[in-house]
Amino acid sequence: MSEYPQANSARKALVLFSGGQDSTACLAWALARYAEVETIGFDYGQRHRVELDCRQTVRAELMARFPAWGAKLGEDHLLDLALLGQISSTALTEHRAIEMQANGLPNTFVPGRNLLFLTFAATLAYRRGASVLVGGMCETDFSGYPDCRDNTLKALQVALSLGLDSPMTVETPLMFITKAQTWALSESLGGAALNELIVEHTHTCYLGERTQRHSWGYGCGSCPACELRARGFQEFSESAA
Ligand code: ZN
Repeated sequence: MSEYPQANSARKALVLFSGGQDSTACLAWALARYAEVETIGFDYGQRHRVELDCRQTVRAELMARFPAWGAKLGEDHLLDLALLGQISSTALTEHRAIEMQANGLPNTFVPGRNLLFLTFAATLAYRRGASVLVGGMCETDFSGYPDCRDNTLKALQVALSLGLDSPMTVETPLMFITKAQTWALSESLGGAALNELIVEHTHTCYLGERTQRHSWGYGCGSCPACELRARGFQEFSESAA
C-alpha cells in the first residue's frame, strides 16, 4: 500500500456508498485521504436492490485486500428511505421501461434525490463527528440530473453548513471526470487489485442483473448504466494498452 497516497487530513468523512463503481471509487478516494471514514447507504425500494448486498461485500473485500484502509473504515449506516417511493413515480422504483421523458430527463430521475440523500447524510455526519461528505455525483457522463451539478452541490454545501452551524464540506471527486477516468482514478488509488475488486463486486446495472459477467463486471449490458460502465471500461482499457 505504501506506493499509494495515504491520509493527509485528520477530518472524518462520511461516504455516500451505494455499492456501485462510482461510490466505491469515492470510498477508496476518501480512505486514501481521511483519518476516519464511515459509509451511508439508502434503501428506497430501488429495483436494483442487489446493490445493497454488494455494499457489504465491497466493504469486506476492501478491508481484506487493503488493511491500511480497513483500519480506517468505520461503521456502515443503512437508512430506510421507503418514503421516496411515496413521493416519486419513476422507473427506478416501479416496474416500468427506462425511457426519455418530454423534459429531456430519463424517467429514472427521482426529483431532488441527491439533495435528500446529502441532507440526511449531513444530519448523520454531524452526529458522528464527521465534517466531510463524499459523493459520486458527476457532471461529465451523467444523465442530465440537475441535482448532480457542481453548482447545486456547492449551494447545498453552504446551506448545510449554515443550517448545522458547523462546516460541512461536500466533496465530489468524480464531478468533472469521465467514466474512463474513474477507472484510472481507482487504479491510481489501489492499483489493479482495486479495479479487479470493482469489476467483480460492485453493481451498477439499473435492472439488478447479476447473472451475466462481462469484462467490466456484471449487468444486463444494455441499460443506460451498463452502457456507460462498459464504454468507460473499454476506453480505459484502450488507453492503458
Ligand atoms: Zn444494466
